[in-house]
Amino acid sequence: VKVNHGYKRCLTLSTGQAAALDGQGHAARALWNLLHDWSTGHGRCHRRSLKDADDAIRQGRKDIPWLAAVPAQAAQAILKTYRRAWTNFFEGRAMPPEYKGRFRSRAAVDLPQARDLAVKRLNRRWAQMWVPKVGMVRFRWTGPIPGVGREPGKLTGARLVREAKGWHVVFRTEVVKPDPVAHPGPLVGVDRGVNVALALSDGNDQTHGDWMKPKEQERLLRLERTAARKRRAHQRGTPTSNRLSRTHDQIARLRARAKRRRTDWQHQSTTRLADTYGVIVVEELKIKNMVRKPAPRPDPERAGVFLPNRARAKAGLNRSMLNEAHASTVTMLAYKLAERGGTLVKVPAPYTSQTCSRCRHRDPRSRDGITFSCTSCGWVGHADTNAAVNIHAAGQVVYGLLSPAPWGDEASRSTRRAA
Ligand SMILES: [Zn+2]
Repeated sequence: VKVNHGYKRCLTLSTGQAAALDGQGHAARALWNLLHDWSTGHGRCHRRSLKDADDAIRQGRKDIPWLAAVPAQAAQAILKTYRRAWTNFFEGRAMPPEYKGRFRSRAAVDLPQARDLAVKRLNRRWAQMWVPKVGMVRFRWTGPIPGVGREPGKLTGARLVREAKGWHVVFRTEVVKPDPVAHPGPLVGVDRGVNVALALSDGNDQTHGDWMKPKEQERLLRLERTAARKRRAHQRGTPTSNRLSRTHDQIARLRARAKRRRTDWQHQSTTRLADTYGVIVVEELKIKNMVRKPAPRPDPERAGVFLPNRARAKAGLNRSMLNEAHASTVTMLAYKLAERGGTLVKVPAPYTSQTCSRCRHRDPRSRDGITFSCTSCGWVGHADTNAAVNIHAAGQVVYGLLSPAPWGDEASRSTRRAA
């Protein structure tokens, strides 16, 4: 099987090189926006052909001098990504492509031609690569990369991305590996929790501490107050002050550090789980719930008038962020299990948090915060563990290890009887 992996390294750039890459990043974003405007603007609703788009990009690069800052191959990659974004939308996997905002989007330049990269390890700590229109750039050698030096596999391309810490390179690699043998490990149910990060049906819970230390949280709060004060003083239409930009950068660096800690934890815990278990059962995420907008609430003073529900909007945002983090955990589990011969099973598991894992009685009153105390049989335990055991049972049903019989139905009947 072909195994594709990304390898990310931090670039060490001179001031001139960083400025040149910033220029490429801005021009690449502008090219995306021009392409989007050309494809959809002015009420146009038909899809443009690939050849028309390609011609338009070539002409644009001739007519607009600063668009030429984007290397030709990167411009082609933007067209390819843009068209794939529409395909993903039409096939129901993603929202339609949008304009890329100056502050909302991440600057990126694609380098699709692997043979032009000329990646070479210089010594124990450093390596270099070629970036079109910038020249040779150096990066820290923090580990082997397939296809570089004597390492087996091949490089299939790279992408430069600007993050809070500066410019990074992500190498795309492909390694041919023999088919893995079936994983002998047991079956386990995993529930994403708010209190326990990953609750497992056998009690081997994966937890983590806060992503930010108390000092960092204090600093973030202080910086956000400073930014808010400066934003109030800022007049619309004038350029953002250097001080406000610097505060924004400081906030972004703090947040990025917390995110790196989260990603690190996700990688470590998913590797542990994929090593231990042969089959991991997770709850299928309901995309509809993730993107649902909160319902407006009625105005208490004016009859028939509805206000946008800000409190619910915040709750929805928090939930969607939590779901997003969980979705990436599930993605990691899926590919790590596949590499080790294991399987990830997604089951639709309704009412897992309300159903007793021992007697299968379903009652919303059984759940009280982090504890679950069954109103029927009196079993008391952690609510997240209870849900994980229910997911485990749903997974056993998939494998025919458990009869699918009383799942929700009987419980709801008995609730009705009780009422
Ligand atoms: Zn019970």
